Amino acid sequence: MSVESVFPRLEPLLPSVSKPIQYIGGELNSTVKDWDAARVRWALMYPDAYEVGLPNQGVQILYEVLNERDDILAERTYAVMPDMERVMRENGIPQFTVDAHRPIAAFDILGVSFATELGYTNLLTALDLAGIPLHAVDRTDADPVVLAGGHSAFNPEPIADFVDAAVLGDGEEVVLAISEVIGEWKDEGRPGGRDELLARLAASGGVYVPKFYDVGYLPDGRIEKIAPNREGIPWTVAKHTLMDLDDWPYPKKPLVPLAETVHERFSVEIFRGCTRGCRFCQAGMITRPVRERSLQTIGQMVDNGLKQSGFEEVGLLSLSSADHSEIGDVAQQLGDRYEGTNTSLSLPSTRVDAFNITLANEFSRGGRRSGLTFAPEGGSERLRKVINKMVSEEDLIRTVAAAYSHGWRQVKLYFMCGLPTETDEDVLQIGELAKRVIETGREVSGRKDIRCTVSIGGFVPKPHTPFQWASQLDHETTDERLRKLRASVQSDKRFGRAIGFRYHDGKPGTIEGLLSRGDRRVGRVIEAVWRDGGRFDGWSEHFSYDRWAEKAAEQLVPLGVDLDWFTTRERDYDEVLPWDHLDSGLDREWLWEDWQDAIDPDGAVEVEDCRWTPCFDCGVCPQMDLDIQIGPTGQKLLPLSVV
Ligand code: SF4
Repeated sequence: MSVESVFPRLEPLLPSVSKPIQYIGGELNSTVKDWDAARVRWALMYPDAYEVGLPNQGVQILYEVLNERDDILAERTYAVMPDMERVMRENGIPQFTVDAHRPIAAFDILGVSFATELGYTNLLTALDLAGIPLHAVDRTDADPVVLAGGHSAFNPEPIADFVDAAVLGDGEEVVLAISEVIGEWKDEGRPGGRDELLARLAASGGVYVPKFYDVGYLPDGRIEKIAPNREGIPWTVAKHTLMDLDDWPYPKKPLVPLAETVHERFSVEIFRGCTRGCRFCQAGMITRPVRERSLQTIGQMVDNGLKQSGFEEVGLLSLSSADHSEIGDVAQQLGDRYEGTNTSLSLPSTRVDAFNITLANEFSRGGRRSGLTFAPEGGSERLRKVINKMVSEEDLIRTVAAAYSHGWRQVKLYFMCGLPTETDEDVLQIGELAKRVIETGREVSGRKDIRCTVSIGGFVPKPHTPFQWASQLDHETTDERLRKLRASVQSDKRFGRAIGFRYHDGKPGTIEGLLSRGDRRVGRVIEAVWRDGGRFDGWSEHFSYDRWAEKAAEQLVPLGVDLDWFTTRERDYDEVLPWDHLDSGLDREWLWEDWQDAIDPDGAVEVEDCRWTPCFDCGVCPQMDLDIQIGPTGQKLLPLSVV
């Protein structure tokens, strides 16, 4: 049965909301398919505003992968801004997709990609506006399956009440497998209703259905056990890993936004995974092993993506793009191909070495040399060893000297505050490093207008990393440390104006910490915050720490736990962690040893990058029967196409 578009009712209301264009759809390369011809229908949600969500690679890739199949239809939906939410409630307009403005409740499945836990309240708004019951237990056969994905889905326990299922890892293949299960179940006449559909998905071992697992608690509040509660449900759920990226060259038709968005460029992911072993980095740990795209596929994707979209900028994405085994050739050959055109290339540079400057020079041929960003992450050499970020102060100084002498004027340095074992002194070292950077820049360039921006984020311990057991620094101490750092830099008149600081207060990090390492009990906090008006918690202008703290106290204290218990408490080896039944491939034993190596009282033990050195047994490759896939392939870009 066809589903009506809400657009005729929405259109007259659009002049009353801010940025109405974000609700219009119709972007270049967007797709509207025949509703009745589709066997399985997906609504894909990025739980943030359109301007943040549209460029999201994950959603764009799945949207295209699904829509390429004749029998599957996929449309997109984003979080509506509070003014739009009000208008929709007043006029009875449900959460809709931007493609065909269909109500999301009419779809078979609502897939939500969480890049950050601070998007959880926006999921609740969307469900409520859609008329989908907030709690999975209250849903009927008429409601879509609500499925979480993205990095936050590696611990979906805090949203276990609100989602029917979660998937870990790469989505390209698993969305098709899920579509097949749903399609078959529908073809068979929906036997056993929603419960059987979820059981079929869970039985595969690749879809986590929280309601099929019971969580027991010890008197002290820790988890006693997480166990399946019915036959045929596996004890652990594994992540999905796409092995051959060359076989999946998406996006082939990148979406071109109508409204302004945070990135307006065509992005090509040049590899997935990272084996550098930074101990704080969840993305690096959960996306192992490294799988590279070949130079030829990268070249073809860039060429095709530009033609399909008209973008003038190409971003070569990955967790550490300079680590691609053929990045020198990629930079040089793409540089040759697009030199003299209005196409610019960018490479998010985080690796701190002189080679990165060579790459940056290639990418900016003939263009402006405005700013370069490096991420030493820790202020002192000692702390960088703790986090396994193998960058010496000399490396950094050599790198910035090369940058300034090649005409770069501005260097941005990214650090974290609140890392395990950190002291005030480690943080003050950030200022000393920035001063040396300025001195070096002035010396090698002979100029006075050298700038260095220091950007600092609060460290949040994440599941599936060696720091998953760590105590998170409370926000008061974080703020105090950063205040001391700023005062120490500003008191030195030689540098005060040359060094800029960017940091937010530590409070959002504390709430992110609660949501990252929380268990099912945290769901009631999320709901209470949402009911009290919590929306867009990733946006500083909407985030309210006081509301979160108040609701956490109200909901958790009666259960014998609290905000500190979830954040600043260090965990022991024996503690059952809320995500222990979710398998990222990393060996728990290896993670623990790596954590012990980090906090070794005799000094942290460093671990090399297994991309270039022998395997150090993190467990991912053998356990998942996978392998690192890197070049060099010795390939060259195909002959120049007319640009
Ligand atoms: S199993 Fe070995 S080779 Fe594979 S990612 Fe882990 S350390 Fe590297």
